[in-house]
Amino acid sequence: MNDKILLSASNLSDNSFLKEMLIQEESPFFDNINSFESKLELYLSNKNVAALNSGTSAIHLALILSGVVLGDEVLCQSFTFVASANPIVYLGAKPIFIDSEKDTWNMCPKYLEEAIKDRILKGKKPKAIIIVHSYGMPAKIDEIILIANKYKIELIEDAAGALGSTFKKIKCGTFGKYGVFSFNRNKIITTSGGGAIVCNREIDKQKVISLATQARINVVHYQHQDVGYNYRISNILAGIGVKQFDLLDKYVSRRRKNNQFYSELFNNMVGITLHKEPNPNYFSNHWLTCILVNEKLAGFSKEDLRLQLLKDHIESRPLWKPMHLQPVYKDCSYYGESVSERLFKSGLCLPSGSNLTENDFERITTSIKKFL
Ligand SMILES: *Cc1c(COP(=O)(O)O)cnc(C)c1O
Repeated sequence: MNDKILLSASNLSDNSFLKEMLIQEESPFFDNINSFESKLELYLSNKNVAALNSGTSAIHLALILSGVVLGDEVLCQSFTFVASANPIVYLGAKPIFIDSEKDTWNMCPKYLEEAIKDRILKGKKPKAIIIVHSYGMPAKIDEIILIANKYKIELIEDAAGALGSTFKKIKCGTFGKYGVFSFNRNKIITTSGGGAIVCNREIDKQKVISLATQARINVVHYQHQDVGYNYRISNILAGIGVKQFDLLDKYVSRRRKNNQFYSELFNNMVGITLHKEPNPNYFSNHWLTCILVNEKLAGFSKEDLRLQLLKDHIESRPLWKPMHLQPVYKDCSYYGESVSERLFKSGLCLPSGSNLTENDFERITTSIKKFL
């Protein structure tokens, strides 16, 4: 009976946050936003955190604080969810897309530097770099920071799916000038919809909060000097965040356990490669576990595998389609080869929710063994 329920590739079926919402509705006047931010700040090495209504608005405000304006260029990882790139266009700036490297699937430092040099030659130094820790896997952050510092370009870390991931024991989201998290429904912890921006300086956090609340100046009448936005998280959703935050460690260990399960399942299967940390410096929250299917070696394609799993009511999803291949961004410049394109062609995200049970693992095992 249970086998007929769709096993989702994300944790959309996890409704524990709804229960939290009901608890919080009883005390809507408690200052949940402040509590949520304090918890995040303590966790993120005492950086300054402002809670917002989405990860997308956090990226938008990070770009504004980085000084991005009409006509500027911003370097952005091509292999990502579209929300990393869209805010560049909100500002009338131009995204320049960069390929991934094979180890972490994130921005390739070599192509990043090549792009910077070429853009400078063409007459314009990019204003910001947006890197992504895709699926929770930390990017090659050491090399990228060196390049950002060398050319004095602001680094924005899209850590939307990487809360709990670390590189050399330092938390993702705290490396850049600004870090971004999302608490959307499918993320590792959720407020049903929400996000946060991590700033090095308190003054930047205050600037973010001001912009996120219509830039109202603190006088008795309604006074505005700048154009602001309605981007602050709501008090009720922040209350869910407070409760969810306490579950983070548990969820990270469950997601890592999922990854371990897949690692054992695929361990001797020719043609299937599990995405894993390149070396012990990298610690991924394994928000989503992903594989690459080498059609020639495996004798089947990733699409064959996806359809087989679907027959057994198990959902899997293709990896991100790179931004430089998206119709909306087809006219943008791109630096790289075909690493991100190959990831898209041969990769799948597998069911990875924090609520997977032993029974779910068995269903997945049976389905995949049947196929092989
Ligand atoms: C989810 C996500 C976002 C956007 O976050 P929202 O809260 O949905 O706006 C941005 N970038 C990446 C990589 C994401 O996974």
